[in-house]
Amino acid sequence: MSVKLDGNIFVTGTNRGIGLELVKQLAEKTGVKSHIYACCREPEGTGAEALRQLATQYPGKITIIKLDTSDEDSISAAVHTVSERISDAGLNLLINNAAINKPPIPAALADTGKKDMMDVYETNVAGPFLLTKMFLPLLQRAAEKDSSGDKMSCRRSAIINISTLISSMEKCPETFPMAQMYPYRTSKAALNMLTRCQAEDFKSHNILVTAIHPGWVRTAMGGEQAPMTTEDSVLSMLSVMPSLSNKDSGMLLDFEGNRIPW
Ligand code: NDP
Repeated sequence: MSVKLDGNIFVTGTNRGIGLELVKQLAEKTGVKSHIYACCREPEGTGAEALRQLATQYPGKITIIKLDTSDEDSISAAVHTVSERISDAGLNLLINNAAINKPPIPAALADTGKKDMMDVYETNVAGPFLLTKMFLPLLQRAAEKDSSGDKMSCRRSAIINISTLISSMEKCPETFPMAQMYPYRTSKAALNMLTRCQAEDFKSHNILVTAIHPGWVRTAMGGEQAPMTTEDSVLSMLSVMPSLSNKDSGMLLDFEGNRIPW
């Protein structure tokens, strides 16, 4: 049986959409000793009101951190702030959730330019790369504090990269007609490779690295016609995460834990 998530958890892009729901359900489901670092670009802005309200409902359990994943200085400052608070315990779970999709859907070839490609890559790939790199010492510390040999888990030390079904090359013939999205698809395929490389790199530290597709979810990014609510998507992902182990590191899974082909 899987053990629930716990410890120090850091989530990006949490002022709305799937990220906000992740923080809500993590706050509900994790133990008293766990702490959630919920990141957003503008903690004082109107767009973060729901997140601020959530933080007041769970005093001492949620800390809002300012973070723009496209800005290296912002990443460095966020890591520094969190490191000062959790240097002894380490970081148990890093969820790279923040992402953008440009240009606006349907994002066909004719509407897509170099800037779209670069902006999306910066946020969706370079951001998670730098964040994970800077958090590595804290992830290692959390892994070392656990005495379960070489067993990996999200409770011990893990990185979850939120990817997408439409990053799958094998699935491209069936998914391309409804969602062209060159910058987004290629950025998430790169995020998958980042997942795979880091899984290899961090294997010796017993840090799990897995990419998860949240489903097609009704958010600003997913659109009104998406069949899944944020509640159901997050409920499902949070029931999969505690069951992840060594065999899942370096893989792309869907919200039910099924493997998606590259
Ligand atoms: P939303 O567009 O609803 O939310 C995106 C979040 O990311 C917002 O909090 C946004 O903050 C944040 N964000 C964007 N850019 C940055 C940045 N540079 N720095 C920090 N935060 C940033 O998206 P979803 O909730 O739908 O998506 C969450 C994740 O799920 C993404 O990784 C997405 O690719 C993935 N996904 C979603 C699907 C869906 O159907 N919804 C399907 C498959 C995957 P701000 O308010 O400041 O813009």
